[in-house]
Amino acid sequence: MSKQNTPRTVTLIPGDGVGPECINASRRIIEAAGVSLAFEVCEAGESVFKKGIPSGVPQETIDSINRTRLVFKGPLGTPVGYGEKSANVTLRKLFETYANIRPVRELPGVRTPYSGRNLDLVVVRENVEDLYAGIEHMQTPGVAQCLKLISAKGCEKIVRTAFEFARSEGRKSVACATKSNIMKLTEGLLKRTFERIAPEYPDLQAWHVIVDNCAHQLVKKPEQFDVIVTTNMNGDILSDLTSALIGGLGFAPSANLGNEVAIFEAVHGSAPKYAGKNCINPTAVLLSGVLMLRYIGEFDAAQKIEHAVLYTLEQNAAAGKGTGDVVGYDRPNTLSTSAFTDLIIANLGRRAEKFKVRDCKQIKLPRLSSAPEYVKPKSLELAGVDVFLHSPLLPAELGPRLEALAEGTPMKLKIISSRGTKVYPATGTITDCVDHYRCRFMPRQGRDVGDAVLLELLGKLGAGGHRWVHVEKLHRIDGADGFTKAQGED
Ligand code: NAP
Repeated sequence: MSKQNTPRTVTLIPGDGVGPECINASRRIIEAAGVSLAFEVCEAGESVFKKGIPSGVPQETIDSINRTRLVFKGPLGTPVGYGEKSANVTLRKLFETYANIRPVRELPGVRTPYSGRNLDLVVVRENVEDLYAGIEHMQTPGVAQCLKLISAKGCEKIVRTAFEFARSEGRKSVACATKSNIMKLTEGLLKRTFERIAPEYPDLQAWHVIVDNCAHQLVKKPEQFDVIVTTNMNGDILSDLTSALIGGLGFAPSANLGNEVAIFEAVHGSAPKYAGKNCINPTAVLLSGVLMLRYIGEFDAAQKIEHAVLYTLEQNAAAGKGTGDVVGYDRPNTLSTSAFTDLIIANLGRRAEKFKVRDCKQIKLPRLSSAPEYVKPKSLELAGVDVFLHSPLLPAELGPRLEALAEGTPMKLKIISSRGTKVYPATGTITDCVDHYRCRFMPRQGRDVGDAVLLELLGKLGAGGHRWVHVEKLHRIDGADGFTKAQGED
């Protein structure tokens, strides 16, 4: 029986495609394990888009989550490349679930090229920032932009969560995977934060790895990893890779953790081609439920279910049976979703022989100030401006015109770049140009220029027939440049 006197209420979102089948199977198993939960069944995703609610998340669902603070959900379908935003990402972001924990481990009878290597690792993915801030613009008809926003506070939260998660599971090391060699300010912020905080966790080995090499190492020697902390986009990709290492998305659970709300869901999507066929593997959703049980302190029930899953997989392997993703669909030995679920329920209380279940403790999530001003610099100077122009001109025509317009103002044109590479003054190289230029103006003298100077410059550019589409102020923060150079800029 549950340790709780009154059942814990959970917002249950069955989701789209295969979601309801997976959620139903998991709910049956959790209830059979003796956990008493009260479910508030709510909608999100495709059915909600169809009702004309563009966010995919109706107010009733938001109200339910605000009450329960706990969500168990199936996958939600998202239109790819057009239409509305992902309701999944909206849910994660609306409730500031800043950490996405994605564990994978070798499972009995699930044959992969890595079988026998005892893989057991976790991707801790930052969950609300980065390119997933979802701030996109067509800067010109021919050039799209997506802002990669990374905050110092977001980095601290995800880094501390990764170390705390590692401790709660008795793990040994945390690797930080970034692309800080290229994106020194954004990805670099995560690396610098990681290096600052790591000494507070001397019991854990901490190391940095460049994310592309991380992908390479994960394929080559995945057993070297224990916990990997990374930015949102990197984590999305790496965690699909890690799920493939242990047998695919059918086995990859996840937890979205925030200080107020936690959302538990599989890594996989709605797999529409399998919807309603009673053939999908429910394990990823079920193991997400196991993560949820640990989160609410139901450690015994969580262990019981995980043991039953491992035992069932062991028995299936011995009998040559399994769900379609393991043994192939439509074979005599293929188990349907409901048959596999029945086996797990029948095996509750049994323990796998060769495969162990970790002893876990409650994770301690970091509590950082909610004040917006998290970083207070000693000095902040306005050092220049990047003006992005929509222009049909070639750099050799545009450059002199801009120089002439800036004549007599406190600002002078330093460089023009095309997609980040200097094209004016000419470098004698072969950079292709599109209808979008970044024009960097710096003060002729002194450092700290005022807004009035920038506005005068923008006025002159507009009056000179140049269409500016975006303006980025360049700052020096505590004496250091808060902006990077273009490729080829000195
Ligand atoms: P997907 O639904 O994850 O399915 C991709 C493939 O993974 C499936 O075709 C299947 O592979 C395998 N797979 C996924 N779940 C499985 C399971 N439980 N058991 C066995 N195999 C499983 O990815 P998608 O087709 O790219 O996305 C479909 C929709 O889901 C999209 O609208 C997408 O935006 C959405 N999505 C939602 C979430 C979420 O709700 N968190 C996450 C990702 C995607 P085989 O074809 O090889 O059998």
